[in-house]
Amino acid sequence: MATLDEIKTYAIEHHVPIMQDAGISFICDYIKEHKIKKVLEIGSAIGYSAINFALVSEDVLVTTLERDVNMYEEACKNIHLMHLDERIQILNVDAKEAQISGEYDLLFIDAAKSQYRFFFEKYAPLVSLDGVIITDNLSFHGMVKNPNLTNNRNTRQLVNKIRLYIEFLKNNPDFDTTFYALGDGISVSKRKPKN
Ligand code: SAH
Ligand code: MG
Repeated sequence: MATLDEIKTYAIEHHVPIMQDAGISFICDYIKEHKIKKVLEIGSAIGYSAINFALVSEDVLVTTLERDVNMYEEACKNIHLMHLDERIQILNVDAKEAQISGEYDLLFIDAAKSQYRFFFEKYAPLVSLDGVIITDNLSFHGMVKNPNLTNNRNTRQLVNKIRLYIEFLKNNPDFDTTFYALGDGISVSKRKPKN
């Protein structure tokens, strides 16, 4: 039987960028505290975070999107081994084009960093009024704060995109965002109350 530790070891050995422990436990606590029932995740990789979310409580249902077929297949295997097929629906789709419906209490964005704003705008309408949008990797290994950590042009462009996304969140008229310096940097965006 697969265990979370085995999935994590696999991720480390195969360089799969799963969420860091601090980030995972932050979101799991959030799910528990706010009695989150429906989660939509963008970027499943091998299912590690989705499995962690589903294990918080038997009421939690996760829909998760993954475009890479190898990741998708590994995730399916792990979800099955953890006996979570009934509560985690994984779709092998590109989240840029996917047609997803339903209402979610939590949208978790953890896919291509250059597309964060696009994902936020595309999927925010599926988030319930008192729901929340959480984004991972906003510090991007410390490079968002300190761009001199890399000379790689593509990495710098990515870091710049993340910076623009942070500005977008800060200036968003519809959402209030709090930033947390844990894991690789997480934001929690809540809809502003309308009056
Ligand atoms: N949430 C996972 C880690 C996700 S890593 C965990 O913590 O366990 C990011 C994943 O997003 C990669 O597997 C990548 O293939 C996927 N991804 C990137 N862009 C995507 C897109 N446009 N649509 C769907 N998946 C995407
Ligand atoms: Mg991540």
